[in-house]
Amino acid sequence: MMKAVQYANKGEDLKLVEVPIPKPGKDQVRIKIVACGICHSDTFGKYGIPGITYPRTPGHEVGGVIDQLGEGVTGFKVGDKVGVGWFGGHCGHCKACREDDWVCCTEGKVCGIHYDGGFAEYMVAPLDALARIPDNLPFEQAGPLMCAGITVFNSIRHQHIKVGSVVCILGIGGLGHLAIQFARRMGYEVVAHSSGADKEKLARDLGAHHYIDGSQPDAIQKLTAFSPKMIVATTPHAKTIESVIPTLAVGGKLLVLAAAQEPLSVSCLQLIGKKQSIGGWPSGDSRDSEETMRFAQINDVTPMIETFPLEKAPEALAKALNNKVRFRSVLVMKH
Ligand SMILES: [Zn+2]
Ligand SMILES: [Zn+2]
Repeated sequence: MMKAVQYANKGEDLKLVEVPIPKPGKDQVRIKIVACGICHSDTFGKYGIPGITYPRTPGHEVGGVIDQLGEGVTGFKVGDKVGVGWFGGHCGHCKACREDDWVCCTEGKVCGIHYDGGFAEYMVAPLDALARIPDNLPFEQAGPLMCAGITVFNSIRHQHIKVGSVVCILGIGGLGHLAIQFARRMGYEVVAHSSGADKEKLARDLGAHHYIDGSQPDAIQKLTAFSPKMIVATTPHAKTIESVIPTLAVGGKLLVLAAAQEPLSVSCLQLIGKKQSIGGWPSGDSRDSEETMRFAQINDVTPMIETFPLEKAPEALAKALNNKVRFRSVLVMKH
C-alpha cells in the first residue's frame, strides 16, 4: 500500500488515502516519486474537466526514479531519474501528432487528469510522457520546471525574437519569476513589469535589466520608451494586458501565457499599422521538458520554491491558490 492524495469525486476536496501501489502495464514504467510541484491546474479535479474520471490523484510536476518496468519497455531502466509534466502522452496518429506537435494532440493525455499523477508515493506513466531529469538537478526543482518552466522557456524560444531585443515580462509570479530568468539567459534585454516598488529588488536579482512599477501613472510611458519586441503576459488580468499592447515595437508580439477570464480588447488598426501580432502557447511535451531542465541547469535558472510533506497537500494547494507562496509549492515524499 502507499499514501496518495486524491479527489474522490467532483466537488470534493483533496483527501489523503491509502491505496495499492500501482503496477506498470505495457510501455509504462512505475515511478517512485521524490517530489511533485503544485499548480493552479491541480484544482481541475475538484471542478471537473472533460475526460476526467474519479477517484483521481492530481499532480503534473513529478520528479522521481523508475522502480519498475512494464512489458516491452526499452530505452529506460530501473534507477533512471525521470519526470512527468502536464503533457501525459499522445496518440501518434492525429493531425497534430503527424505534424510532430505532440502537445496539441487531440487525444492527448494529461498527467493527474486522465491518469493518476504525482500527489502520491508512486505513479505509473507511459514512456512518451517521460522526461529525463539531469543528474545534478534536484527533484524538487525539476517539478516546477516541467510546468511553469517549460511554459515560459518553450513559448519564448519559439517566437523567433532576435537575441538582443527588448522583451518585457508582465507579472512576477510562478511563471514570471522564471520568465525573467530564462529571457535574461537567452540573451534578451529584459524589462520586468509588475505592480509595486517592492518587487524591484527581486526582479533585478532574477536578472531583469530594468523594472517598471505598473501602479505608477508613468508606467505606460516608460514601457513605450523601451518599445519591446515582445511582451510575455504571465498575469491573468485582461485590463493590464490590454494597457501594454500599444507599447509594442513595430513587428512586436504579445505572447499570452496566463488565461485571463475576460476577453482581450485590442485595436485592429494598431496591429495592422505596426505589423503586430498576438499569440499563445501551451507548454510543451516531454522532449521540451528535458530541454527546459537542461537549459535551466547549465544556465542557473532556479525556481523559487517552498516544500511541504505529502500529507500537507490540501493546505499547500490552498496556500498556492491564495498566492501565499513565493512562488511554487512542492510536495516532498518520505519513503
Ligand atoms: Zn501546471
Ligand atoms: Zn495525437
